[in-house]
Amino acid sequence: MFLLKTDMFLRLALTGAIGICSIIGDQGLKYGKTAAARAIFDNVTHAIVGGLSWAIILNLSKKSLVQNFSSIVWCFALSSFIDVDHFIAACSWRLSDAVHLQKRPFFHCTTLPIVLWLVLNFYANVFNHPKLGYYTWMMLTSFLSHHIRDATRRGLWFCPIGNTQPIPYHLYLSMSMMLPHVLQWLMPSIHESKSSHNITLIDVL
Ligand SMILES: [Zn+2]
Repeated sequence: MFLLKTDMFLRLALTGAIGICSIIGDQGLKYGKTAAARAIFDNVTHAIVGGLSWAIILNLSKKSLVQNFSSIVWCFALSSFIDVDHFIAACSWRLSDAVHLQKRPFFHCTTLPIVLWLVLNFYANVFNHPKLGYYTWMMLTSFLSHHIRDATRRGLWFCPIGNTQPIPYHLYLSMSMMLPHVLQWLMPSIHESKSSHNITLIDVL
């Protein structure tokens, strides 16, 4: 009973932390004194939100955050790494070039992680490769948490179809906090449908 309450409290605290970090990061992005300060604030916020999202998925999956700490760090790093495409698209390591692109860079197309997740998950299931399946969920969590946060300014980009309208601020905060809960809810349902395989993706978490 005590453990159950601690678990619930941790889940609530982590979910609340996503909202609080996002708000603080958005303020830093708005009021940062220099372009470098704003970019660092924004990128670190992406990383923290990605790491927290994966921590919630682990918690909901009844997995130890300490024993799986490295996977939280990977999700943290990948959520931050996504913005490297600004520099690749600009063909320059100068921040002023990276933030003044004519169009959004390729890692910011939401179709990309969804298609990658579908293809790799299919491969992982067909060839019984649970570790790969596990990584696809981490990848999806990092990308979607990053894209939802960016979408409050520029909308979600489903190339080649187009962009949605920018997501209203409170909806974006709710979506960011709900994302790990929705993804974790989807994970077991997919595993159950593959119950003929003795091993499930969740087993490798
Ligand atoms: Zn971004």
